[in-house]
Amino acid sequence: MRSKIPCSADKLSLLVPDMIQAVVGPSAFKMGTQYVSENRVRIIEADELQISSSVIGNSGLHEQTIRLRDGNLMTKCSCPLEEQPLCRHCVAALLEYHRWVQPPPLRRTQERPPRESPPPEQKSAASATDIKFNEIASFIEWLQPAVRALERGQALPDAPKLGPGEVMGWIQAVQKLEERRRESEAIQVALEADVTAREAQLNRATQQLQASIQEAREAQAASKQMQRELANYRDVLTRLSNIVKDLDRYDGQMRSVAGDLLRKGSQLETLASSFKELSAALQALVKPPSQ
Ligand SMILES: [Zn+2]
Repeated sequence: MRSKIPCSADKLSLLVPDMIQAVVGPSAFKMGTQYVSENRVRIIEADELQISSSVIGNSGLHEQTIRLRDGNLMTKCSCPLEEQPLCRHCVAALLEYHRWVQPPPLRRTQERPPRESPPPEQKSAASATDIKFNEIASFIEWLQPAVRALERGQALPDAPKLGPGEVMGWIQAVQKLEERRRESEAIQVALEADVTAREAQLNRATQQLQASIQEAREAQAASKQMQRELANYRDVLTRLSNIVKDLDRYDGQMRSVAGDLLRKGSQLETLASSFKELSAALQALVKPPSQ
């Protein structure tokens, strides 16, 4: 966001925290103060008329440009916040600049040291802050490809070489989470393989069941066919037994006819012998008696 506010100060170092607090929103001031106290502000380049800085905000790294020109304070921040008249990051940058230009407490006790060479205490304090900031910056640099790798399911990039400390702890925490994710992924793959194997088993069982049903149907059809054939055989048998009965009956009739014939034959024989006797008697009558 950009903003432009009238400003009577002609040097940025004149903007003391009380003045900033009086102008900006309470939550922007609170967050800006917190960022400064947590060493999340880095002054890249600054003089009394302009500041270039970056702040590690809660949603990432944001860059600020602050200028004092023609009685206006012009600010620009890469964040999307709508805080007016200044966002928390610009507030943090102004507060950090104010702290930055303040002489260190020890300096008051010394006899006007040369401006160009700050005392060793200040140097070491600044470098401690720089190390902290550099660690955080390398963490953020590492975090972006790490998040992309996580999204694509690839291995995490190599961690930056940092000494033990809070930032290294964050990196190790992310690495541990990634390890756990891989473990659960492996478990999921195994489960999926198991499910696939069971599905294949189920398919085979279904196919066997279908084949059995088909066989049962065929057997049923064959059994019906056999029943029909059996009924046919029964019909044939019934007809045969009728024919046998008919034959029996004809046989009886034939036997009685034969008996009749035999009886009539013997009667004829009797008749014939009677004729013979009659004939002999007649011949004896007809033939004159011999001498
Ligand atoms: Zn901002």
